[in-house]
Amino acid sequence: MSNFYYPWQETQWQQLMSSHQQSHLGHALLFSGKAGSGKTQFAKNLAKALLCQSLTTEQTPCQQCQSCILFEAGSHPDIVILKADSKAKIKIIKVADIRDCTKWLPITSQTNDYRIIIIENADKMNHAASNALLKTLEEPVKNRFLILTSSHSERLSATIRSRCQQTQFYIQKEQAIPWLSQQDNLNNKPLPSLLSLANGAPLKALEIAQSDLIEQQQQAIKDFSNLITKTVDPISIAHLWFKNTQVPYITWLLSWVIDLVRLFYQPSTKHLYHFELQKNLRLLLHDINLKQLYFLYDALLQSNKLWETPINKQLLLEKILIQCTKLTDK
Ligand SMILES: [Zn+2]
Repeated sequence: MSNFYYPWQETQWQQLMSSHQQSHLGHALLFSGKAGSGKTQFAKNLAKALLCQSLTTEQTPCQQCQSCILFEAGSHPDIVILKADSKAKIKIIKVADIRDCTKWLPITSQTNDYRIIIIENADKMNHAASNALLKTLEEPVKNRFLILTSSHSERLSATIRSRCQQTQFYIQKEQAIPWLSQQDNLNNKPLPSLLSLANGAPLKALEIAQSDLIEQQQQAIKDFSNLITKTVDPISIAHLWFKNTQVPYITWLLSWVIDLVRLFYQPSTKHLYHFELQKNLRLLLHDINLKQLYFLYDALLQSNKLWETPINKQLLLEKILIQCTKLTDK
């Protein structure tokens, strides 16, 4: 495995570097894939390779030239990495930042004739920023590259997407599990559960291994089960869940409901989101009213959309959990 890309990124690296060698690399690249698939690190390493003055025969950065040394030290003058301010209350990429970058881009390079801007989570650009970037996308300059990364590329405007050469990062379980099993700090947590909680993204799974999310999930499915059998009060559970802001309860409920519908129609567990929870889910399936399950599914889809808006989240959770208590006819 290369030090510059993960096993699931090998094809993408070879394709992009081959395009670069043939001078066919698009001036604007969009890397999309799940959060935790290593897109941003890949973008940085690709930029490093483009700026390297002496690529290796494997088409990877040499790590020894002046450009690689500057890059490693974080002081390369020909690259800018732009992202939303992580401390800001509303995390957006502002128009002023895009304007500063795009003014900088055409200026003569200080090293090997290339200049690169990486925009991390480009879907965080607000409307004005997005429009400002469009101008640069429409007027390519030789040896100037824009690399956008996004876990939600569908949120980018269609015009922006159409101006970019797009690369998708898909990860197969067969690639992720062997890679994860070689990592340290897994804290003896079960790999299938980690990967499932990470929505299949290995780097996210590593992060989750450092948290108590697996334990939280076990408690949450217990709560869900108790709600269905009406042995707990939905308002109290909503209150507890609301306080636990780092847990994605709505996303979890949605995936459990989808798995329940799948199990209802299809006894095979092959396509479940939560293979590791199949026992719990099968138990829940008894006595469930399918019509009510679909009502809950619709409500969850709606809530998932509203979650990022300034809505009263506790009230939203209460409504959803009350609906969970109506899943059985008993
Ligand atoms: Zn180099």
